[in-house]
Amino acid sequence: MQSKTMVEIASQRTLAKTFQGCLTKNILNEISRVSSINKSALRYGVTPKKAAYKMKNCIFCDILSGSQPCSLVYQDHVCTAFMDIQPVNPGHLLIIPNKHASNLNELEENTGGHIFQVAQRLAAALRKSPVLCEGINLFLADGAVAGQEVFHVHLHVLPRFRSDGFGFKFGPEYFNLPKRSELDDIARVIRESI
Ligand SMILES: [Zn+2]
Repeated sequence: MQSKTMVEIASQRTLAKTFQGCLTKNILNEISRVSSINKSALRYGVTPKKAAYKMKNCIFCDILSGSQPCSLVYQDHVCTAFMDIQPVNPGHLLIIPNKHASNLNELEENTGGHIFQVAQRLAAALRKSPVLCEGINLFLADGAVAGQEVFHVHLHVLPRFRSDGFGFKFGPEYFNLPKRSELDDIARVIRESI
């Protein structure tokens, strides 16, 4: 049995379009509630004094230090999650490490693993919440050519629904499948680089 009827989904779409601001407020409340996040524990240890890894001219470090606003969803001693100010869909979240890392190469593996765990938890919260969420994309852009715009690592948690207009564009070679020998050669050079 489907958890959301088509009528409910259509109704949520109308709500999302008409009352996006109001809905976002309710969404935040719901996400906080269903994920059992204790609001008194928010802003855990990340104060301007303690933000020892603050990078100049980094908007995300400014958010962590409190000098720039954010709509906070979750925070622990490793990472912080807040609403993207230009959401692809309502409920679009970003998760960032509390310690500045410009790219994946600078990010400690344990921190990356923790960020992924939090992403799973927030994805579950999105699915439980009233946010229109028929699917989820986790997306991380590493490097300008990959679409990274803020050079403080961030993992996007994107609620998706049918016909939301978002998608990935494939390159012209996508439908020309490589031979097994080519895949094996590439696998070998990557293996040798681990
Ligand atoms: Zn930063």
